[in-house]
Amino acid sequence: MKYFKAGQYKLINPGKFKKNSKRIINLISESKKIILTTHINPDGDALGSELAFYDYLKQMGKKPVIINHSPTPDNFKFLDRKKIIRFYHRDREENNRLLKNADLIFILDTNQYSRTKCMADPIRKSQAKKICIDHHLGSNENHYEVILSDTNSPATSSILYEYFKLQNLNIINRKIATYLYAGIMTDTGSFRYPRTTEKTFSVCADLVKRGADPVWLYDEIYNNLNPEKIKLFGKFVTSITYHFGGKLAVGVVTLQDFKDYHSDVQDVEGFSTFIMSIGGVEAGFVIVELKDSLKCSFRSKGNINIKAFANLFNGGGHKNAAGASLPHQNPFEFKKRLISEYKKFYKK
Ligand code: 5GP
Ligand code: MN
Repeated sequence: MKYFKAGQYKLINPGKFKKNSKRIINLISESKKIILTTHINPDGDALGSELAFYDYLKQMGKKPVIINHSPTPDNFKFLDRKKIIRFYHRDREENNRLLKNADLIFILDTNQYSRTKCMADPIRKSQAKKICIDHHLGSNENHYEVILSDTNSPATSSILYEYFKLQNLNIINRKIATYLYAGIMTDTGSFRYPRTTEKTFSVCADLVKRGADPVWLYDEIYNNLNPEKIKLFGKFVTSITYHFGGKLAVGVVTLQDFKDYHSDVQDVEGFSTFIMSIGGVEAGFVIVELKDSLKCSFRSKGNINIKAFANLFNGGGHKNAAGASLPHQNPFEFKKRLISEYKKFYKK
């Protein structure tokens, strides 16, 4: 299977990137109250981008605030030792006030307000100018003052690297290097996913030079599984079924599983990566039953555009990694529907 050739990566539109970066710098200097946010269930790239941008704004003399919909997963808590990140639900009134009165709101690692869940409405209604920095495929759902996007980038964190580079690479101190490295490492699946190129390594080499510790970061983020999670993983593995001669694999995690193994949605991290490691599998789905919804992860290899499939369920993401959130329903019934939809999709 052919992926990107190493070294082929370049910013899709360097001229536009530069122009938009300048507009962002101007908007920052005009603004006092700046808020950063990201998508529900933040991953390493979402958190790494937010924390790096927070530190950068502090260097610019600003007092930014990060407000997230979901709590930080346990294995990323070490990135936010000072507990800078606010959680929307913890003080909804105050957070609504902050959003309402902001001058500027940055939405990182997603281009859809709706991915911030119940923060979407206060964001929409806020007088603030909104800026999106993201590497996902576009959506016309929302209005932004500036969109700094590059869908060739393996991570939002690597877009930020380019943005800092346009100004002065010395912005990237040890802390920022650590955040950006964490973002790139996690969003590339530790340098295995298709958008990993020669450029990814040269950016990461520079981040290591500037103080990011790759061994320590890997250890903190990945070598930290709790024993209950291993049991949940075992259950997940036994749930996997194969279809279309082994080209499609589907696994399910239910509310009962979470209950049985004292775990929750953050413990599902990595399951979709695992499913794609099975020989012969070209597409993999993970269906996770939550209290009020079903969360689906869709993965594919090569030319199968799984984002287009996710769109059928109002989801989105990237060509080879996408997801969707659906109203609560029986996960096994939904699985049947998913497989029959995939059959039609695959034929096309
Ligand atoms: P994951 O399966 O790891 O949750 O998500 C994989 C990719 O799909 C992420 O890049 C994420 O942005 C996207 N994604 C996941 N869930 C949703 C969703 O409910 N809506 C949209 N638009 N994208 C999603
Ligand atoms: Mn990302």
